[in-house]
Amino acid sequence: FVLLDHVTKRYGDHTVLDEVDLAVARHDVVTLIGASGSGKSTLLRCVNGLEPIQGGHISLAGDVISGEGVDLVGLRRRVGIVFQSYNLFPHMTVLRNCTLTPVRAGIASKEQAEADARAMLERVGLREKAEAYPDQLSGGQQQRVAIARAMLMRPEVLLLDEITSALDPELVIEVLNLVRELAADGITMMMTTHEMSFAREISSKICFLHQGSILEEGRPEQIFDEPATPELKTFLRRIH
Ligand code: ATP
Ligand code: MG
Repeated sequence: FVLLDHVTKRYGDHTVLDEVDLAVARHDVVTLIGASGSGKSTLLRCVNGLEPIQGGHISLAGDVISGEGVDLVGLRRRVGIVFQSYNLFPHMTVLRNCTLTPVRAGIASKEQAEADARAMLERVGLREKAEAYPDQLSGGQQQRVAIARAMLMRPEVLLLDEITSALDPELVIEVLNLVRELAADGITMMMTTHEMSFAREISSKICFLHQGSILEEGRPEQIFDEPATPELKTFLRRIH
């Protein structure tokens, strides 16, 4: 469904992704793990066109989404992304944060967008916060709004980059519960997280990145319990 074919990403002469091949099936949850600087965020950013690539191809549902001439606006509608920092507009209510892009993109009328946003906020447990401003919410609540906002674009794939890393431990769980629900609903996701037990629980596939290459990939049990390469063994030892 999402295919990376020999994807190479360079910053100057620093190769950050080195001919990466990766296949994500519809309804998959693929988690990228690896040391800081191994290229996890870069890979996600390439998938939604935030970073141009210097070699290879990326396709989504058979459409090439990398390279020159790609409609980035259209691409970002199809591929949602949520970051560690929630990036909500501080001067807009939660509801407005959620309706702005769908209305601007012409996906929904203002009335429809508001109805959709209220339904989505209900789903993420924030119905009563529609009129609040971001700074009146906890970090976990803001992150749930950011996910709701991404989901309102009805993306074909949702990318989640360390979305709980900036949260206090007690707020992490509410965000993870939401991601768990999205996974159960069959939303196709690619993510990075430090929450290894969570990754193990919800991922259909784990990819271990090392210096810009996928050194190992497989089912969570395989990756966590039977690492094959010394690099992955070292990584797992370090995080435990
Ligand atoms: P972390 O776990 O710390 O988030 P990561 O696996 O997400 O790490 P990336 O952010 O993808 O790592 O970075 C991969 C490499 O690319 C790093 O060496 C980083 O310094 C480099 N890099 C990332 N963004 C840029 C940029 N805009 N310009 C130059 N180099 C960059
Ligand atoms: Mg990163």
